[in-house]
Amino acid sequence: MNFKKKTVRDIDFKGAKVVMRVDFNVPVKEGKVKDDTRIRAAVPTIKYVLDNGASLVLLSHLGRPDGEIKAEFSLKPTVGVLSNLLGREVKFCDDCVGEKAVSAAKALKAGEVMICENTRFHKEEDMKTKTDEDKEKAANFAKELAKLGNVFVNDAFGTAHRSHGSTAKICKYIPISVAGLLMEKEIKYLGDAVANPAKPFVAIIGGAKVSDKLAVLKALIEKVDSLIIGGGMAYTFLKAQGHNVGNSLCENELLDTAREIMKEADSKGVSLLLPVDNIAADKFDNGARRQTVGQDIPDGWMALDIGPKSIQEFSSAIAKAKTILWNGPMGCFEMPNFANGTMGVCKAVADSGALSIIGGGDSVAAVNRSGLSAKMTHISTGGGASLELLEGKQLPGLTALNDL
Ligand code: AMP
Repeated sequence: MNFKKKTVRDIDFKGAKVVMRVDFNVPVKEGKVKDDTRIRAAVPTIKYVLDNGASLVLLSHLGRPDGEIKAEFSLKPTVGVLSNLLGREVKFCDDCVGEKAVSAAKALKAGEVMICENTRFHKEEDMKTKTDEDKEKAANFAKELAKLGNVFVNDAFGTAHRSHGSTAKICKYIPISVAGLLMEKEIKYLGDAVANPAKPFVAIIGGAKVSDKLAVLKALIEKVDSLIIGGGMAYTFLKAQGHNVGNSLCENELLDTAREIMKEADSKGVSLLLPVDNIAADKFDNGARRQTVGQDIPDGWMALDIGPKSIQEFSSAIAKAKTILWNGPMGCFEMPNFANGTMGVCKAVADSGALSIIGGGDSVAAVNRSGLSAKMTHISTGGGASLELLEGKQLPGLTALNDL
């Protein structure tokens, strides 16, 4: 899959009025941004547009205010953070549509930037459009957003899987729509590298539930040489093989599906690795009593991490890889006593020398915690979007952009 969409590099920005969708959906506590990763990730495209002579209006959502104005979901705390990162003034408008927003956008001079308030303060941004009336409301909102400029740039990979007013629908009503540099980079790694991987290609899939990642597992089995399954989802697979899983996470309704996946892997010659040992706890608590057990978890106990032999086996498969995709932790890494498996895999990926793609969500938090993030090739900013891309789905926020 080559990148077939126009990007900011295809546009002459001199004198342009740019509206850019960014993903500033950052954690905020008591009016302060707690993690600015997503804001930093948008800076290259923001700088590119401003340095090339455009004025810039930034749109984003933050949290789920459900169409109401709620102070805790305001984008105001992002203004100072962006201003520091850019080393220039950042203006703010307390609405993203309407007379005030349009005239503030018009007044911006080349090189000036303004953040508009949370797009989800309007229910039309992300409303379900089942009736004609709702469709019209959503379209009108997108038309209003389009009045903020004449070029649309989408750099919000994290919401590219949503067909919302500011992520996709706006493209219908603005003359030019192109991808930002972050969007392009995400698609390059999660799309191209996974479609044409250097072999051996090893995927590590973990996290809580098989059901969340079923489509990804099925898509990956067609492409990988090895599939490593850890985390809570591994216990559905172990039970499907006939093991006792005690009180571990297990989706009993997916036992047949797990068997089919294992059969499919077998028939495709994919080596599917499950934990050979586990750290079992007597309750879901960092201070729980622990014991290392094999593939059978004793009654009354729950497996909250993979064990040392599993770390070793997984690490030697990872060491052989040329391409690695990792999504989902190997255990409850948020609790220090159950973080060894995830940290062990993290170290193995960092040491592998392979092209490594960390596919969003909790695995990104784990990699950041390990201090090894600089050793990874690409750390995705999008959880849901990266999963949908890996499943082979179209992303509405990307599809809506102008073709090359
Ligand atoms: P996901 O969002 O599906 O990637 O799941 C991430 C969550 O799965 C994290 O909060 C982990 O604590 C949790 N998790 C990982 N392994 C286990 C396990 N063995 N038992 C219960 N929860 C787990």
